Amino acid sequence: MNQTKYIFVTGGVTSSLGKGIIAASLAKLLQARGYRTTIQKFDPYINVDPGTLNPYEHGECYVTDDGAETDLDLGHYERFLNVPTSQANNVTTGRVYLSVIEKERRGEFLGKTVQVVPHITNEIKQRMQLLGQSGDYDIVITEIGGTVGDIESLPYIESVRQLLWELGDENGIVIHLTLVPYLAAAGELKTKPTQHSVKTLMESGIKADILVCRTEHELSDDLRQKLALFCNVKKEAVIQSIDASTIYDVPNLMLEEGLDKVALKKLGLPEKQSPDLKQWNEFLHRLKNPKHTINIGLVGKYVELQDSYKSILEAFIHAGASNETKVNVVSVHSEYLDAKNIAEKLKDLDGILVAPGFGNRGIEGKIETVRYARENNIPFLGICLGMQMAVIEFARNVLGYADANSTEMNESTAHPVINLMEEQKDIENMGGTMRLGAWKCSLKNDTLANKIYGKSEIMERHRHRYEFNGDYLTEMEQKGLVASGINPDTGLVEVIEVPTHPFFIGVQYHPEYKSTVANPHPLFVSFVAAAVQHKLK
Ligand code: GLN
Repeated sequence: MNQTKYIFVTGGVTSSLGKGIIAASLAKLLQARGYRTTIQKFDPYINVDPGTLNPYEHGECYVTDDGAETDLDLGHYERFLNVPTSQANNVTTGRVYLSVIEKERRGEFLGKTVQVVPHITNEIKQRMQLLGQSGDYDIVITEIGGTVGDIESLPYIESVRQLLWELGDENGIVIHLTLVPYLAAAGELKTKPTQHSVKTLMESGIKADILVCRTEHELSDDLRQKLALFCNVKKEAVIQSIDASTIYDVPNLMLEEGLDKVALKKLGLPEKQSPDLKQWNEFLHRLKNPKHTINIGLVGKYVELQDSYKSILEAFIHAGASNETKVNVVSVHSEYLDAKNIAEKLKDLDGILVAPGFGNRGIEGKIETVRYARENNIPFLGICLGMQMAVIEFARNVLGYADANSTEMNESTAHPVINLMEEQKDIENMGGTMRLGAWKCSLKNDTLANKIYGKSEIMERHRHRYEFNGDYLTEMEQKGLVASGINPDTGLVEVIEVPTHPFFIGVQYHPEYKSTVANPHPLFVSFVAAAVQHKLK
């Protein structure tokens, strides 16, 4: 196939309708029919990337192999499709403007007045076609962040309009995701908000080809007919997206509604085979028929917002299914934990995960948590900051350095067991300056890490500034800590474990970013298995 086909996904009425999940589900179906499919997201905010955003603002910052700090929807794309994404898959208004302004400074616009149209829209259009032009994909799905009608989205909507015109019929289509609210008092589903948002889209020169309607109740035949008539789409192009008990049900729900078929028809593409979802449905079966139930404590400081730890929660879903185990993730706020209340607060847990994070708040509670897990033989997984806390705990309570700390929390500690790498010391900018993306790690033979991965060379994704201070390695190893994963190029310690404990492991990287439905992450799979064992005992 030569012409890459484009599907644009816009959102109407309100945000948080789950555009990312719809896009990922459609991509899954197209992939399962044999089309090489990718998804990209265009976000209308002015941050160059979400790396500088607090998790409370926009949820987790997702990291790709090439070290891009991206929107959490890219995590969904990878989890559904099992294909890695990259910087090219996530573009923000900030990135677009930065690049246009840099071109202006270099004089590339040859004295012209630089304007939103055509300069910003050209930059957007060029970036929208980047992945398509790589030749790696038959279909590129582009999710436009925000809601149609917002000031911020205008340049994107205009770019889509121009691109549709340039691509020509059957090479580009628009799926509009909207809300069909239920008015309990009237006992009715209402179509008006959808009519209005389709109209807003029309005012920008874009006609929706397919409507995906988020709803809490089934859409009747009459209602579908009404939506089709007033929104100017075929009835078969009115797709119901009803609330699902898990996001992983959505591909099947979209299959039943025929979303993939209508999209292919509009794009002038053959249906090929019926989607091969065998592996996907086996996963769903295991997910929905668990033989065990366990409680895992997720100890962190952003626990009020589910989206802050999105990839970790999803990794537990994948690992739970693979162990035929329902994993209840119990959020524990580390700020309210201390030596006195810890046993009470953590008493019903079969495993404990200390979460990634930044800054001082809540870290003493995390250190107490590690101690509790280590001393009581409770399966423990520390991720990034969680691993650093495990090192500090070991230094304090096993080596006896009561003031041991990370220089992130206390610059003048006499025992900086976690400190800044030399390369990080002179960095002043905050954005994009951490150790980011995939790094190699060698696993020592006969260690827990080696057993978990079943190999001795791995690649995992990082996002941090601070590191294990190698000056303390010998002393810690003499006292029973094992540095089981080392970066072969830099010698940095990436994995630590305590072999006298049934399952105690800390990783400087983020395994959660690489867990997918097709490939549940081995660390999470083994951690869940260890928690099941702990419970059975
Ligand atoms: N704050 C720590 C660092 O920068 C850990 C970061 C994280 O957990 N992602 O090294």
